[in-house]
Parts: sequence; C-alpha cells; structure tokens
Amino acid sequence: MTTALKRLTGRIAIVTASTEGIGFAIAERLAKEGAKVIISSRKQKNVEEATKKLLDQGLDVRGLTCHVAKSDDRKKLFEEAKKIGGLDILVSNAAVSPTVGGVLDCSEESWDKIFDINVKSSFLLAKEAIPLLRSSKAGRLIFISSIAGFQPSEFLGAYAVSKTALLGLVKAASLQLAHDNITVNSICPGLIRTKFSDPITSNDEILKTAVPGIALKRLGEPHDVSGAAAFLASDDGSYVTGENIIVSGGMASRL
Ligand code: NAP
Repeated sequence: MTTALKRLTGRIAIVTASTEGIGFAIAERLAKEGAKVIISSRKQKNVEEATKKLLDQGLDVRGLTCHVAKSDDRKKLFEEAKKIGGLDILVSNAAVSPTVGGVLDCSEESWDKIFDINVKSSFLLAKEAIPLLRSSKAGRLIFISSIAGFQPSEFLGAYAVSKTALLGLVKAASLQLAHDNITVNSICPGLIRTKFSDPITSNDEILKTAVPGIALKRLGEPHDVSGAAAFLASDDGSYVTGENIIVSGGMASRL
C-alpha cells in the first residue's frame, strides 16, 4: 500500500489498542501521512514489536503500554503527548467481546466488561483528551465503532449494543465540541480480517453465508479502514462532524 498524501505533517496522534489489526493500520497510516503517533496496547512485548515495525519504516512513533480501562495508563498517554508537543488526534479503538450470544443471554459480568472497555473507556479517553485538543488548530476525536452498532448480529448482542452507544456518544459530543473546533466522528468497520474477528473470518462455514452479504464480495483488511481515519484526521475532514462512517464493502446496515 502506498500513501502519496502527507496531510498530517506537524500533527500529534494517540491511537489506542494499536499494536495490531485495525489500530495498527490506522497508526501506520497516520504516521505515513506525517503525524507523530503514540501507539499502545496492554502487553509490553506487543508494544515493542509494533513500535519497531513502524520505526523500521522510518515513521515517527513511540510506544507505551496502556490498558484503556486503567486510569494511570490513560494518563501516561496524555503525558507523553504533552512531552512531544500536545495532541491533535485521538483514535479510541479498543474493544472486547468476551461472550458470544444473544443480548439477553449476556451475563452481568460480561455486560460490565463490554461497557467498561468499549464505552466507558472511550468516554473517559475523550474527556481526558479535551484540554489538549482544545489547544490544537484542528482537534479530532475518532471512535472505532462497528457496523454491528447499526445492525446487531444475533451472536454478538451485547457487543453490538455497546457499539450503538458509541454512535450516540459521537452525536452528543460533536455538538458539545463544535464550539472548540473539535470534530467527533466514528468509523464503523464491517468484517475485517484480524485476530479479533478470527473466529468468524477463519470459519469457512460462516464465511459461506457472510461473504455473499458483502457487496464487494470480500472481507476487509485493516488497511481498508485506515484511509477513512486519515481523511477524518486531516483538513480534508474539517467539515465532517457527528458522523458514523461505515467502512464495510457494502454490507446491509440500518439503525
Ligand atoms: P485486533 O486485531 O484483535 O487487535 C486488538 C488490539 O487491541 C491489540 O493491539 C491488543 O493488544 C489491543 N487491546 C486489546 N484489549 C485492550 C485494552 N483493554 N486496552 C488496550 N489495548 C487493548 O482487533 P481489531 O479487529 O483490529 O479491532 C479493533 C477495533 O475495531 C475494535 O474496536 C473492534 O470492535 C472494531 N471492529 C473490528 C471489526 C473486525 O471485523 N475486525 C469489525 C468491526 C469493528 P494487547 O493484547 O497487547 O492489549
């Protein structure tokens, strides 16, 4: 994948859960477009490996461990951003889906975990980023939701509800932050080949029914999602706020 554009030179970005999958692809793309990027995830080894992969490409990145549900870990991200000059772009990407099943079969424990990571941590990261984003010329909040937030799958019931909550967070926060010239949007991926989706994307039986429902008749790859993040982060996206953008190869979706 080549990137001709350099729309983010001089910008500073934090991307959570970015040592593999969609988060990694977004971090890589933002850095290729010229941003200084802080990548992070829970495990030191993953952070070291991912940071090295990006540094080896000559990109301006640094890595930190951060479990998004831990307040001290989130604080470290913003301290690092301050050290290198502030913050222009926050991409909140972490999510879990510990259970498979209908929404009303979800245990209270799983429900709390899903909402803690997928919704509350995104809310807190956004809240904590605001003082720095207010000092940016072009502050950007980007949440990674899911097409499941529009159209729940039968088997990821509670996860889908958490992703719908993010769609609402985007709408509400975009109104509040418009006064600060901070845009707030989400990207809602379809079926993207990653470790997270592996139980689906490596199951031929499931794929036989899932792929025909994708207009482009193929699974997405993480780099299929990262261009949308770069667009929203850049000046090209400066008049786009309060939007939940589906990147799914044309899967059916409705709210
Ligand atoms: P992935 O490839 O499995 O990557 C997950 C990343 O998250 C890893 O870097 C992991 O590293 C990190 N991570 C996991 N839990 C974390 C936590 N609590 N705090 C910080 N980092 C954490 O996942 P993905 O498929 O790219 O998913 C990324 C986002 O896209 C999620 O929000 C997901 O809901 C959304 N999404 C994915 C798909 C899809 O089909 N793949 C579709 C729609 C939406 P460590 O293990 O080191 O923490």
